[in-house]
Amino acid sequence: MSGVLIKMLAVWVVLAAPLQAGALSFSNRYRSPRNPERPIRKSTKLIVLHTTEAGAKSSLNKLSERGEAHYCIDEKGTAYRIVDRNREAFHAGRSMWNGKEECDSHSIGIEVVGHHDKPVTLAQLDAIRDLVAMLKKEYKISDANVVCHSHVAYGAPNKWQKRNHRGRKRCGMLFAMPSVRQKLGLKMKPAFDPDVRARRLVVGDPYLEKVLYGKIDTMVGKLGRNVAPESKQGFFASFFSKRPPEMPNEPEKENYYAKPVTAVESPAAKEKPAVKVPPPKTAAPKPSPVQAKEPTTLRELEDRMKFKEAGVLGPKASPYKIAGRNWNASTTYYFTRGKVLRGDRMDPKKVPPGTRVFLRK
Ligand SMILES: [Zn+2]
Repeated sequence: MSGVLIKMLAVWVVLAAPLQAGALSFSNRYRSPRNPERPIRKSTKLIVLHTTEAGAKSSLNKLSERGEAHYCIDEKGTAYRIVDRNREAFHAGRSMWNGKEECDSHSIGIEVVGHHDKPVTLAQLDAIRDLVAMLKKEYKISDANVVCHSHVAYGAPNKWQKRNHRGRKRCGMLFAMPSVRQKLGLKMKPAFDPDVRARRLVVGDPYLEKVLYGKIDTMVGKLGRNVAPESKQGFFASFFSKRPPEMPNEPEKENYYAKPVTAVESPAAKEKPAVKVPPPKTAAPKPSPVQAKEPTTLRELEDRMKFKEAGVLGPKASPYKIAGRNWNASTTYYFTRGKVLRGDRMDPKKVPPGTRVFLRK
């Protein structure tokens, strides 16, 4: 080959390399020492998205040490390879999806450094999108089979829930929200819980169920803001003001429980004062629990217009006995040791007898 040609080729390689690899960068720094002992996975039907609920360093150390994920994506968008993707990682725990238990045996687990109810960074969204696209292609996985850990995790009967139930975890639940799925390039999502519908499980966490299958989207407008430099704000605003592309239907036979991700209202449209004429004979719409102001003091909880005291915890009065299925909902509050705890954030082990339970009216 002539010198000129080699030079031209070198220039082409330099130019093309970053385009080919996309923005996704991998690291083997935290590859798990558990790899040799993990069996090769026989099939791959699901991609399960998690949130670590902890910072990057402790998350990566723990995941690597225990071999609990195939990938972990930190805030900068680096994808750390933990367990080799053809082996089993222990990421889903007690789990079931569409009648099939032990999802570890047929899924890939991606941990995202962050929290189930907070936006992740824009770099993370880009990295998840690219990684998921790569894995979907490799294992022929449809959009609706890219699920959250909270979709598939289930709990065994306990003090508060007499049956096997969905809602053991809220891990990764933000990845079911329409605005997040759109950013991840996922056009479909599960329309309902196939195991609840088949009565293999009952709903143990009504709020989670609404996030996974309803219209709750607390991330609209928040995505990327936590990392967006000032100069880029305009870009995000324009991104959200664009109408999302039309979502085609996938054939039913492939994923009978799949539904298209529905359009998301842009924050720009939201900020406009809505001129709504209330329909006659109906009460004014109640603010959704997510939007309502959070009580922080006992005095606020004792406001009988807004809250109802449901009982006091005791040896025979468990949170479940007092608040029923809503014991861990965001609309249930516990008052103990001078503090107000929201149902979805409280640890049942840390509410002593004498704790007062309030429900939002
Ligand atoms: Zn998880």
